[in-house]
Amino acid sequence: MALVGLGGYSTNELAPALRETRSCYLAGVVTGSPDKGRRWAREFRFPERNIFSYATMAQLASAPDIDIVYVVTPNALHARHAIAAARAGKHVISEKPFTTTVADAEAVIAVCRDAKVKLSIGYRLHFDPYYRELMRLAREKEFGDFTLASGEFGNNAKGTEGWRLSKAMGGGPLRDLGIYVIQAACMAAGEVAPVSLTAQKGPTTRPGIFTEVEESMSWTMTFANGFVCNGMASYANPRPQNYFRAQAPKGWIKIDNAYAYRDLEGATSRRRLAFTQHPPIRQQTTQMDDFARCILEDRPSPVSGEMGLRDVKIIAAIFEAAGSGKPVQLKA
Ligand code: NAD
Repeated sequence: MALVGLGGYSTNELAPALRETRSCYLAGVVTGSPDKGRRWAREFRFPERNIFSYATMAQLASAPDIDIVYVVTPNALHARHAIAAARAGKHVISEKPFTTTVADAEAVIAVCRDAKVKLSIGYRLHFDPYYRELMRLAREKEFGDFTLASGEFGNNAKGTEGWRLSKAMGGGPLRDLGIYVIQAACMAAGEVAPVSLTAQKGPTTRPGIFTEVEESMSWTMTFANGFVCNGMASYANPRPQNYFRAQAPKGWIKIDNAYAYRDLEGATSRRRLAFTQHPPIRQQTTQMDDFARCILEDRPSPVSGEMGLRDVKIIAAIFEAAGSGKPVQLKA
C-alpha cells in the first residue's frame, strides 16, 4: 500500500496500523516533501523508488510492488488523487468524506470501474465491535426496528486547523465529524439512506475563526420506515460530545466515546457491551486488512464507493436544507 499525504492521520494512525496489518504493508508514499519521503522509506524499509510526488502519481503505474493507494489528503483533493491512482491501475481507498461534491464522487466511481480497480472509503467504524453490534441489531431486529436515534460529535477548534477551516478544501465540522453520525444512523437503519432531512446551521460565536465554514450544524434525518435520527457536529465544544444512541420498541443501544479510534464504551438495554480484546483492536488495521483481502478474494468492499457517494449526497442535502430552511427530499 502507498499512502498519499503524510499528515496527522497517516502519521499517527495509518502508518502504525500498517505495522500490524497481515494482508498489506506500507510499500511507498506520495508526498510533497522528498525529505519526508526518504525518512519514511528508511523507517518503513521501502525502496526510495517508491517515493512519488502529487505531480508524479501517474508513475505509480510502474511500481509493481504497490497494489493499493490510500488517499489521505484534504477533503477537496480526494477526487483528484483517487482518479490519479486509479488511472495508474491501483486499487483505491479514499479517506472520508469520499469527495466534496456528488459529481466528483460519481467521477471517481466511473474511473475506478473503467480501470477495473476496487474502491473503498476510509470508514473505520464498520470494523469496530461496537458498530458491528449496532449493525447486527439492525439486521436481526432483536429489539425491533430502530425508531429514534441521536448522535453528536464535536471538538473545539482553535483557529489553527488549517484546511479544516477552509471552504475550498472541504473543511467544516459537518464533513469532518458529522459524517460519523450519518454513518451510524445509516447503520442503524440497515445501510439505507434517509428519504428526507431538515438542517440548521448553528450560530457563529467566533467570527474570527469561522469565516468560511460553519461552526456547527444540526440536522434530522427521516428514513422510509419512519426511523428518525437527530445529528449534530460542532467545532465549538470545549467539552466535546461524542456519542450515539438508538432506541427500538424492545430495547436500545448506546455508544460513548463513539467516534474515537479506541476506548469506546457501550451498552444495550440487555447488557453492558465490553469488547475488550488483548491487544485491543485497532480499527484501521482491520479496515485496511479487509480491503487487501477484498482484492485477494475478489469481493467488493463493505465500505464501498457507493456508500461514500450515498453519504456525500446526504451531506449535500444537509447543506441545502440548512441554506433554504426547508426540508429536502433525497432521491433513491
Ligand atoms: P493533515 O492536514 O494532518 O494532513 C493532510 C496532508 O495532505 C498533509 O501531509 C499535507 O501536506 C497534504 N496536502 C497535500 N496537498 C495539500 C494542500 N493543497 N493543502 C493542504 N495539505 C495538502 O490532515 P489529516 O488529519 O491527516 O486528514 C487527512 C484526511 O484524512 C482528511 O480527508 C480527513 O478527513 C481524513 N481523516 C480521517 C480520519 C479517520 O478517522 N478516518 C481521521 C483523521 C483524518
